[in-house]
Amino acid sequence: MKIICIGRNYTDHIAELDSARPESPVVFMKPDSAILLKKHPFVIPDFSNDVHHEVEVLVKISKLGKHIDKKFAHKYYDEIGLGIDFTARDLQTELKAKGLPWEKAKSFDGAAVLGNFIPKNEFIDLKNINFRLENNGEVVQQANTELMLWDIDTLIEYVSKYFTLKIGDIIFTGTPKGVARVKADDVLQGYIEDKEMFSIKIK
Ligand code: ZN
Repeated sequence: MKIICIGRNYTDHIAELDSARPESPVVFMKPDSAILLKKHPFVIPDFSNDVHHEVEVLVKISKLGKHIDKKFAHKYYDEIGLGIDFTARDLQTELKAKGLPWEKAKSFDGAAVLGNFIPKNEFIDLKNINFRLENNGEVVQQANTELMLWDIDTLIEYVSKYFTLKIGDIIFTGTPKGVARVKADDVLQGYIEDKEMFSIKIK
């Protein structure tokens, strides 16, 4: 399986990183080796002093497809989840400045947290999902999917122009504002509405 990630999908996060508002979605990938094993802590890698949490709504692909039209996109996923796109911000900033790919900063082992998934039909409206991240019990990121620049179906249409989507692939739909450094002993808990989707200890 592959993990397709969207960058800069919430304007408030674009502003906090001083990034340009893109004309089309920013896309990058994480390999399956980046998935943090269930019940394992996230170990801060020694090549970064500034690993940030980015909480993101996830979409799990349930049907093989390519060149998917937006109006049929809903047929290609049936579960919504929550995860973290861990980012070595210091390394990413350095790579960005040199115009180099982001993989070392985004795709290292453990950099993809996949929390629980909820059947899509349990949501009344996928464009109105509240989600948040708490660090040691304090809310650090909070948003609603209505704030996405490109909604889920538009993202599926877009990424499937480039990549065949396969069953089990995951799309990270971008992070809202509030990204910040994690430190040892932090506990990150993610929620969709009031359902806990993951709890991760930082080491
Ligand atoms: Zn992200």
